[in-house]
Amino acid sequence: MSFLQAMAVRRGAKRGDLRNKADLCVYCGVCAEKCRLKAIATDSAARVWNVDDNVCVRCLRCVKGCPKGALYLDRKDK
Ligand code: SF4
Ligand code: SF4
Repeated sequence: MSFLQAMAVRRGAKRGDLRNKADLCVYCGVCAEKCRLKAIATDSAARVWNVDDNVCVRCLRCVKGCPKGALYLDRKDK
C-alpha cells in the first residue's frame, strides 16, 4: 500500500475496486481529468478505459464527475 493509499484509508476511503460499465462509457476522458493521481487512462479513438488499481485511492472524484454514471466501486471484500 502506497503512502497516498494509506492516507486515503485513514480518511475513510471506500474499499473495493473502481470499475467501468462499458455499455455506458463514451470514453470522453473526463474521469481521467478528474483524477489527481492520473490513475485512469482513456483513449476515445480506440474506445479504451483503464484504471491502475495500485494507484487509485478510491476517492470517487471520477465517479462523481462522470457525466454518464458509468463508474462504480466494486465492493468486494479486500
Ligand atoms: S467520464 Fe465516464 S463516460 Fe467519460 S471516459 Fe470516464 S467513465 Fe467513460
Ligand atoms: S477513485 Fe480517485 S484515485 Fe481512483 S481513479 Fe477515481 S479519481 Fe483517481
